[in-house]
Formats: sequence, structure tokens, C-alpha cells
Amino acid sequence: MSDSRRLFFALEIPGETQQQIIQWRADHFPAEAGRPIAAANLHLTLAFLGEVSADKQRALAAMAGRIRQPGFTLNLDDAGQWLRSQVVWLGTRQPPRGLLQLANMLRSQAARSGCYQSPQPFHPHITLLRNTAHAVPIPPPGFGWKVPVTEFALYASEFTRGRTRYTQLERWTLTE
Ligand code: ATP
Ligand code: MG
Repeated sequence: MSDSRRLFFALEIPGETQQQIIQWRADHFPAEAGRPIAAANLHLTLAFLGEVSADKQRALAAMAGRIRQPGFTLNLDDAGQWLRSQVVWLGTRQPPRGLLQLANMLRSQAARSGCYQSPQPFHPHITLLRNTAHAVPIPPPGFGWKVPVTEFALYASEFTRGRTRYTQLERWTLTE
């Protein structure tokens, strides 16, 4: 369908934190470990929507706009590798209740609107490296970035000229 786009809800990572994360990544992972995700593309997906028509996008955005919940702080203090999907990720040892609540709300709204949602539980993570064909050593604990989260956003994902670009379409503030 020509009016459909590949969409997802996500948390934006502040630019300063993005820079600190890629510096840490460069210090701790060899270049051959995998394909590094560009700093500006580091994000935490809340709900993946897939190909969505303009009408459905409007309905999903209206539902997102009715979400009322306070912000929260995300402590990025965990990292790991998923061998099956060949990614190295950054995450949190203790997902804040607000993060789980927000993701669950967006995922259930998406499912009710007919967007396929994986039956797997939500694993909050920021993908750092892709195509990690081999096991790589994960840096020891001790790192950590505290990210205050005061909003969430809807993104379009487009693959053009050999690279994936995300465009922020709309954002909402977290307030009770
Ligand atoms: P590319 O697939 O082009 O290499 P990408 O995975 O970053 O790059 P998308 O596939 O458009 O781009 O995904 C956008 C976001 O949604 C990413 O955070 C991705 O991990 C997540 N995502 C993609 N497909 C799914 C899915 N089936 N279930 C859950 N999350 C997904
Ligand atoms: Mg993908």
C-alpha cells in the first residue's frame, strides 16, 4: 500500500548520552565485533508497529496522546549479547515500572489496532552492534547512564540508499 509506512514507538536517547555510549563502545568492543549503530540511531523501542496505513497511524497516535503517566529514570547499567539475533545491547537490570507500563500500553493498543505483536515479553534494550556473528566479551559492570525519560515518540523507519533512517513523526510528554 503506497500510504503505509514502517513505524515504531520508542524512547529517544539524549545526544550527550548517545555520544558517551559510542565512546564506551569504541573503548570496549573491537571493530570486528559487529556493525556499530550510528550514535543518532541509538534508541529504545517500546512497540514495533510494522507497516501501518495513514488512517491507522492517526488512530494509534490519538491513542498514544491519551496515555497519562509520569516520567521515570532509566538506568542503563546492563549489557549483553543475543546470539540468535546477532546483536549486542545495552539495557537495565531493573526496568522502571513506568517503562514497562508505557510499553505494555502501547503494545496492547497496537495489538488491538491489528498490528502484529510478538508474544515474547518486552525486553527493553538499545541495540549497539548488529551482525555480531561470534560471541564477544561484554564489558564488566560498573558502567551506567541515568537517563531521565519525560517523553516518548513515534518514528518511521526507512531503508534508502543502503542505510536505515529513522524519522521522528510525533512526540508526547509523560505527565499524569
Ligand atoms: P534494519 O532492519 O534496516 O537493519 P532496524 O532493525 O533498526 O534496521 P527496523 O527493522 O525498521 O530498523 O526496526 C525499527 C525498530 O523496531 C528497531 O528498534 C527494531 O529493533 C524494532 N523491530 C523491528 N522489527 C521488530 C519486530 N518484529 N518485533 C519487535 N521489534 C522490532
Ligand atoms: Mg530490523
